[in-house]
Amino acid sequence: MNILVINAGSSSLKFQLYAMNNEAVLAKGRVERIGMDSAILTYEPSNGSEVREVQEILDHTAAIRKVLDMILHSDYGVLKSLSEIQAVGHRVVHGGESFTGSVVVDDAVKREIRQLFDLAPLHNPAHMLGIVAVEANMPEVPQAVVFDTAFHQTMPPVAYLYPIPMVLYKKHKIRRYGFHGTSHMYVSERAAAYLGKPLAELKLITCHIGNGCSCTAVLHGRSVDTSMGMTPLEGLMMGTRSGDIDPAIVPYAMAKEELTLGEVNSMLNKHSGLLAISGLSSDMREILEASEAGDRNAQLAFEMYEYRLRKYIGAYAAAMNGVDAIVFTAGVGENSAALRAAVCRNLTYLGLELNEEANVRRESADRAITTPESRVQVLVIPTNEELMIARETHKLILQQNDVV
Ligand code: ADP
Repeated sequence: MNILVINAGSSSLKFQLYAMNNEAVLAKGRVERIGMDSAILTYEPSNGSEVREVQEILDHTAAIRKVLDMILHSDYGVLKSLSEIQAVGHRVVHGGESFTGSVVVDDAVKREIRQLFDLAPLHNPAHMLGIVAVEANMPEVPQAVVFDTAFHQTMPPVAYLYPIPMVLYKKHKIRRYGFHGTSHMYVSERAAAYLGKPLAELKLITCHIGNGCSCTAVLHGRSVDTSMGMTPLEGLMMGTRSGDIDPAIVPYAMAKEELTLGEVNSMLNKHSGLLAISGLSSDMREILEASEAGDRNAQLAFEMYEYRLRKYIGAYAAAMNGVDAIVFTAGVGENSAALRAAVCRNLTYLGLELNEEANVRRESADRAITTPESRVQVLVIPTNEELMIARETHKLILQQNDVV
């Protein structure tokens, strides 16, 4: 079975085409600047080199048509006919409380995703554009949706409720949802396979540290707490997001600086985090370079980022009454030996022993960076959210075919 995985944004769309018999990527790419007259299509077939085209692509339906044209192209195509794509899987950021797992798209699912537009105004409407665009181009092909929030729906009320008037939860669903669930679920499964133990017997802390950062307590395979909340702003310090702050800062800063709600929202989401403290960049590579060159603000930004992450790891070890393994993933987690070392060197109270040499070795495979004697293992596992979406879609389509 071949599955097309789509991650649709408001003016962009990323795709990967998987052959599920061996989980090989047949082609991948992206369309950027959708709706503008010079949209950019990048297409990379597994058997050839990258193709790049600049042209007018006015909406998501045209973008999907263009992607399908490339997949079937006489020169760089990887399939002969559209009928060779048996299903499409979409990433959807917010599933609210309605979706505890991935589902096949039907009218009721679409209605429910629309109901959730309020909770994820930047993401869910864009995902819906992707779903409708696929429908327009391939009306017979089943589609599935995989939610970033679904993995965290196992959190108990003690973890997901905010200690604020319950009416806000009851009336407006104001609660913690968590994000990056597909990634946390994927690396948890990989970690269990790497450790050779059933996921159901493990206490894991998974750290997805990229531009956005979140940390999850995975107890026996279920998310029991995660650092992002009602929105992806809560929790760890990130590239441009503040993470946890005293909420009273919001009205205070608004009054003092005469900020509007929109401005304060933008300040916390786009102008905070590493960027604000370093005054330089939200990109960890640039922070590390500047730190090494002696830039004091970059050093402080790195130290705060590490300190806040380490505090969450400590909190989640407490939440689960122990931890068997800590997993690092995503851009920074997979690549920054400096961050991992700084975190691990201060977790010796957990019985954690870093293998300094393994930590700095550059490898793309799943690996342990602790000594064999270490009481807590630390693993580096490259995430693969697209593959997880393809797997979830595959599973759902097989189940559906069984039922029919
Ligand atoms: P996103 O959350 O947008 O998917 P990524 O997971 O790709 O982001 O992570 C991007 C982050 O990873 C950036 O801060 C980037 O600097 C960082 N990064 C990538 N490579 C390295 C590296 N070699 N060392 C340190 N940080 C890195």
